[in-house]
Amino acid sequence: MLYRRNESLPCPATKGPYNVMSCANIRIDQIGTETSEVPLQWIDTHAHLDDERFHADLPAVLERAATAGLQRIVVVATTAIDSPRCVELASKHAILRATVGIQPNHVAEATPTAWDEVVALVHRPEVVALGETGLDRHWDYTPFGQQEDYFARHLELARKIDRAVVIHCREAEADVVRMLKQDFDKHGPIRAVMHSFTGDLATAEACVAMGLYISFAGMLTYKNAQALRDVAAKMPLERVLVETDCPYLAPVPHRGQRNEPAHVVYTAGVLAQALGVSVDVIAEHTTRNARTLFGLT
Ligand SMILES: [Zn+2]
Repeated sequence: MLYRRNESLPCPATKGPYNVMSCANIRIDQIGTETSEVPLQWIDTHAHLDDERFHADLPAVLERAATAGLQRIVVVATTAIDSPRCVELASKHAILRATVGIQPNHVAEATPTAWDEVVALVHRPEVVALGETGLDRHWDYTPFGQQEDYFARHLELARKIDRAVVIHCREAEADVVRMLKQDFDKHGPIRAVMHSFTGDLATAEACVAMGLYISFAGMLTYKNAQALRDVAAKMPLERVLVETDCPYLAPVPHRGQRNEPAHVVYTAGVLAQALGVSVDVIAEHTTRNARTLFGLT
């Protein structure tokens, strides 16, 4: 699906197109302006394009992304082994940038030299963030204390070299907020994103208050995710991001299929509805926010 400038989404209140009477939040300057043929600009802030499911057709995937208006795609690493692969991909394709890091579920399998291997990559020009890191109580692959150790390492290094941090949090919201709070109390605002956010409003607000961004993935479009849409509805436009987390979490209407960066527009459409603004406004803000967080050109 390709959103074009000023294309309207159905208004949640009337099911008809947005207009100033039915959707009070919409800005008057977005109504009745001429439709241009320039596609809206997007950034997919979290994609696992090094996944083997993209090996056969990555050029076609990237072409569909560019056609859908994507400006940048952040390829996110999960291990010391795929970190250099993500950097290499980003060096080959101009639309890509990379992160390097070790995801909490993979910390247990990390070799004694894994962390140093990650650290050795951070100054490559393609690297815009550390991660994904964080905490996960859903899976029991890595003892929790070890997850905390690596999460702290990512936070500390990111601060030292002034990079963003991509944070994975699954069923560990209180622990993530506790560790972020320790860092925030010592050093001030944290340059990071809560990726594929599924937590509650209190968690989201605590993170925003510490300077973090909240990134929404395909779950936002799922029928049973009204609680998450209610959280999204309360987020400041200056703090929201969109992502695919592809190949996982494909949004409706592609749920169950392999996800890809071009599909980020479906999540963005639902985020626009939740916030009661036009898709243009979501494109503008999420793209600007991603550029700021990751220092993207
Ligand atoms: Zn991910």
